[in-house]
Amino acid sequence: MMKCTTCNTDVLAKKNFVRFNCPDCGQVEIVRCLECKQRNAKYSCSGCAFQGP
Ligand SMILES: [Zn+2]
Ligand SMILES: [Zn+2]
Repeated sequence: MMKCTTCNTDVLAKKNFVRFNCPDCGQVEIVRCLECKQRNAKYSCSGCAFQGP
């Protein structure tokens, strides 16, 4: 199960989501559903506390 970092939705239940490594530490994979991406919702990295839109 893979969850949206921002809203905790199960993204595997949706078709559209993005995955990328944290732009700051590069260690943690950030998962965002399309809705959060479109809303520009904030996410925070669980590894280094980086916050980004
Ligand atoms: Zn989301
Ligand atoms: Zn990080």
